[in-house]
Amino acid sequence: MRILIVEDEHKIANALKRGLEQESYAVDVEYDGEDGLHAALNEDYDLLILDRMLPGMEGMEICRQVRQNNLHCPIIMLTAKDQIKDRVAGLNSGADDYLIKPFAFEELLARIKALLRRPQDSLGTVLKSDSLTLDTVSYEVKRNNKIINLSSKEYALLYYLLRNQDRVLSKDTIIAHVWDFDADVLPNTVEVYMGYLRNKIDKPFSGPDLIHTVRGFGYKFGVVKNV
Ligand code: CA
Repeated sequence: MRILIVEDEHKIANALKRGLEQESYAVDVEYDGEDGLHAALNEDYDLLILDRMLPGMEGMEICRQVRQNNLHCPIIMLTAKDQIKDRVAGLNSGADDYLIKPFAFEELLARIKALLRRPQDSLGTVLKSDSLTLDTVSYEVKRNNKIINLSSKEYALLYYLLRNQDRVLSKDTIIAHVWDFDADVLPNTVEVYMGYLRNKIDKPFSGPDLIHTVRGFGYKFGVVKNV
């Protein structure tokens, strides 16, 4: 999952980026409101974190314009103010949630997880395909009840695949949701990581393969009869 942070306080922005990357998210940061809006409209983010007071353009205005452009990704607004009318204004501009500074990183993380679950409520906190399970709270991945150890990027990739089961995903789409701007993405990066994942979640197990190559296009994940 790929997150955009728009926050002009470099210390806060960079600390959030580091913290979220440790939790396997791909994170981009913009320090100015107009740059933030540009990035939000031109990249395919799964969630936006917007500071309210920003140079260039206010967080609420970014929020409004993002919604006007029919982008429905979850938005969390950060603010120093804590008056009820500010909260209401933030939510009315299209934000899904609101955090008052200073906040605990754990609280932000919990809210991000809750918002990313929202469109697929029925999935709960554990994502599943065949005998493979991924627990989004404990980060435990298992198949046939055997624990599988994944690197942070492998986990991020598997999480994205599990959320998009039975859909054909192009390599570009996968890159856009799993890697950030600054990542060194080579032409074969997706293949390399798919190879790592196959060796960990498919090859050692007798159940059906879950990772399928769609020739000339990308991948499909899940128990598939015809690819
Ligand atoms: Ca600010």
